[in-house]
Amino acid sequence: MLVRNIEQLLERIDTACLAAGRPAGSVKLLAVSKTFGADAVIAAMASGQRAFGENYIAEGVEKILALRQYLAHKPQTEPLEWHCIGPVQSNKTRLVAEHFDWMESLDRLKIAQRLNEQRPADLAPLQVCLQVNIDGGANKSGVLPADALTLALEIAKLPRLRLRGLMAIPEPAADFAAACAVHGAVKVLFDSINASGQLAQTMDTLSLGMSGDMEAAIHSGSTTVRVGTAIFGSRQTPLA
Ligand SMILES: *Cc1c(COP(=O)(O)O)cnc(C)c1O
Repeated sequence: MLVRNIEQLLERIDTACLAAGRPAGSVKLLAVSKTFGADAVIAAMASGQRAFGENYIAEGVEKILALRQYLAHKPQTEPLEWHCIGPVQSNKTRLVAEHFDWMESLDRLKIAQRLNEQRPADLAPLQVCLQVNIDGGANKSGVLPADALTLALEIAKLPRLRLRGLMAIPEPAADFAAACAVHGAVKVLFDSINASGQLAQTMDTLSLGMSGDMEAAIHSGSTTVRVGTAIFGSRQTPLA
């Protein structure tokens, strides 16, 4: 069931890539497993899926540890890649630094500095995306577009972090054109930061698009779509 859902999604992603004149396979699927257990992650892995996203730190770490134990008996399996995509308070940064591979929802220098200090020396640098509040949505996380370049340059100086790109969660749009306009604004910002010539390493990741707006995001240049419901089904407790 989950495998079929993932296969259908990969087809949908490839169709959107072709429609946008982009090569098939150029957009990565991040499976958002929040609120579902380690058993659901294991079921999804049967499709070859390796990248999983979590919003809630304690829940995510519990799953990461359970899967590490499960995979310890399966040395042939490619390792999983865990992305933190939810808001992180200062008192949770250590858990993120010690257990996740990616932090996509970074929007403050203070959090970045803590993650940099707390990233264990024996792990690869934490791969990070700056979350951008592209549409000024009420109570929304994310750096404002006007402040994104300055923050990106500060983060790029931190040796235990590796700035990979931008992430955004736009409000649902009325139609395809409106969705493309808001996703396109993130792409313009992404290109302008890269074109500033001030980053030692070019950003390569644009994490944009979910179940409902994936086609518009891919049309606008997304390189990672984050999908939960269309893989795992609807969540019991509706969470932000
Ligand atoms: C929950 C969540 C998703 C996945 O949303 P679905 O509607 O279930 O596909 C993607 N990105 C973020 C940041 C999320 O919190």
